[in-house]
Amino acid sequence: MARVVFEKVTKRYGDTEVIHNIDTAIDNGEFTVIVGPSGCGKSTLLRMIAGLEEITSGTISIDGRAVNDLEPKDRDIAMVFQNYALYPHMTVFNNMAYGLKLRKFSREEIKARVDQAAKLLQLEGLLQRKPRQLSGGQRQRVAMGRCIVREPKVFLFDEPLSNLDAKLRVQMRLELRNLHKRLRVTSIYVTHDQVEAMTLGDRLIVINGGYAEQIGSPLEIYERP
Ligand code: ADP
Ligand code: ADP
Repeated sequence: MARVVFEKVTKRYGDTEVIHNIDTAIDNGEFTVIVGPSGCGKSTLLRMIAGLEEITSGTISIDGRAVNDLEPKDRDIAMVFQNYALYPHMTVFNNMAYGLKLRKFSREEIKARVDQAAKLLQLEGLLQRKPRQLSGGQRQRVAMGRCIVREPKVFLFDEPLSNLDAKLRVQMRLELRNLHKRLRVTSIYVTHDQVEAMTLGDRLIVINGGYAEQIGSPLEIYERP
């Protein structure tokens, strides 16, 4: 678990400022949703946290260490994307194990972590299948499994459910909530969908045109007088 702090974070592409002076903190174990319309700067924010995008000015730190000072492998962040890009020729087990193999974990440790994640995600019977032999929801769970096995301090989610049909999206929202209750890993989730934001977030950051317009609980933000 980790605390993520934004201090006067600004992003410019050329002369265009797309993120303006964002100041906020995300607590240990909190599920925060960054919500706003397309083009408002959500992905840019997430990518800056992941260290995939340079921060023009200000700092983002994780447990007191600025992200840009850390090597990618030392960032302890795992990111789940919209197109979850499983390796098609690898089994579910190897898809989940891949990142650990790269990091030279022992075979025993890899097996233990993959088995544990598979249990958590109800993928136990599917470990020898290839991605094409899975449903959309199962594939999305494998993508999450690949992140969970690394035991990161922070999970980043970039609209991970937007390619799923409506029914599956609702189911996966519940699964994500339950997963977060069990793991309590600090999670930052980007979406343009207000319903998704309300059902998932402990706290919401509403972005509009690169400004953090509102920050608060779903009740504080969406309650109408
Ligand atoms: P969102 O994720 O909310 O849809 P983005 O973070 O992708 O928004 O984009 C925020 C703004 O920054 C948009 O106006 C977009 O056109 C612009 N933008 C994003 N990436 C680049 C880039 N690499 N170069 C120039 N402008 C960019
Ligand atoms: P990490 O565990 O650090 O997230 P990944 O396992 O996601 O690392 O690999 C990083 C990137 O390398 C992937 O996004 C993918 O594009 C590429 N890659 C590495 N090995 C393969 C492979 N065998 N097949 C397809 N893509 C691969």
